[in-house]
Amino acid sequence: MSKPPSQPTTFGDRTRLVHAGRDPSEQHGFVNTPIYRGSTVLYPTTDDLLHRRGRYSYGTKGTPTTEALEKAWTEVSGAAGTVLAPSGLAAVTVALLSCLKAGDHLLMTDSTYRPTRQFCDGFLKKFGVETTYYDPSLGTGIEYLIRPNTRAVFTEAPGSQSFEMQDIPAISEVAHRHGAVVLVDNTWATPLFFPPHNRGADIAIEAGTKYLSGGSDLLLGLVSANERCFKALRETYDLFAMCPGPEDVFLGLRGLRTMALRLREHERQALDMARWLQSRPEVARVLHPAIETDPGHAIWKRDFSGSSGLFSVILKPASDKAVAAMLDGLALFGMGYSWGGFESLVIPFDCSTYRTVTEWKPGGPALRFHIGLEDLDDLKRDLDAGFARLREADAKAA
Ligand SMILES: *Cc1c(COP(=O)(O)O)cnc(C)c1O
Repeated sequence: MSKPPSQPTTFGDRTRLVHAGRDPSEQHGFVNTPIYRGSTVLYPTTDDLLHRRGRYSYGTKGTPTTEALEKAWTEVSGAAGTVLAPSGLAAVTVALLSCLKAGDHLLMTDSTYRPTRQFCDGFLKKFGVETTYYDPSLGTGIEYLIRPNTRAVFTEAPGSQSFEMQDIPAISEVAHRHGAVVLVDNTWATPLFFPPHNRGADIAIEAGTKYLSGGSDLLLGLVSANERCFKALRETYDLFAMCPGPEDVFLGLRGLRTMALRLREHERQALDMARWLQSRPEVARVLHPAIETDPGHAIWKRDFSGSSGLFSVILKPASDKAVAAMLDGLALFGMGYSWGGFESLVIPFDCSTYRTVTEWKPGGPALRFHIGLEDLDDLKRDLDAGFARLREADAKAA
């Protein structure tokens, strides 16, 4: 079990988001910890320098700014400690490297974020770590894939793009019984909707680029760990000196204070939009675990306290040209990678090109939506016109 957070757990999540990692008395009364820019830290005496005596020793090892976000995230996540990284992907890689060595075996969900997969296949393999991909729907059944050298099990829920839920408590129980470490990429839910260390994860990764930022204006990663894994995580982080820049950390802190409000609004808007899309004749299926008919709904309801703004839909069969006609004419939905900002996004996607142990055959074109903070009626009108273009393009081709 993970250590309880350093603040009394009687505080609610929103109170913690506002107060965690902040001590105005150390900042001359100002509300926020400022941006400390710095490499060199000066020592008053030779003796202090030789013994690196002092609260801070060098820029890569931490500043009051980075410490503030680490501390706050540790509290919000219910972890023993946190390290920051210059991107979400860097957070994934430092987390994996902290618990794996040559000769180890890694179990990785087939539904993982694609660059995570590329790191396993393109880097871990070279350094003697073998990765086996597993079906995200496996719960305790994952036991049959565990080998004597299985050192880590990586989960991500819901799955990147495809939105399968995973039974993380069940997987964790099995993994822990075999001595393996459990990691979760918790970017979609954040610790507010899925408290990772209370659900079995030893290490949790968050792409702060998404909802911590909320503004599509920075790259940041966070890795929180329980008592069992934090020491190795911190050591690995120090060896790589994988530190983010101070402005990005400051913006992460700023985002943290309002994250609960933004998440709830993304959730509300996305659920409304998902239901609207589900009722459209052009849509075959909505992939959103908070929708009652979703195959992952029972797990979501049991383990999660909310859903965020990202989900996918499968359209009824339509030509690529028709889908392009729909998307290219959208006025409010941007097309681009990443998500979590204030603005709505859509991308077409196809998991079949990279999955290896689960089949991706949705039966129609797949679109991933991020629902931003615009007026829902405006967004629906934009999509409504898009669907008209889709139907028109396909009617013309027929
Ligand atoms: C975006 C994302 C990442 C990587 O974050 P970057 O900051 O873009 O590197 C990792 N995991 C998931 C699930 C993501 O959506």
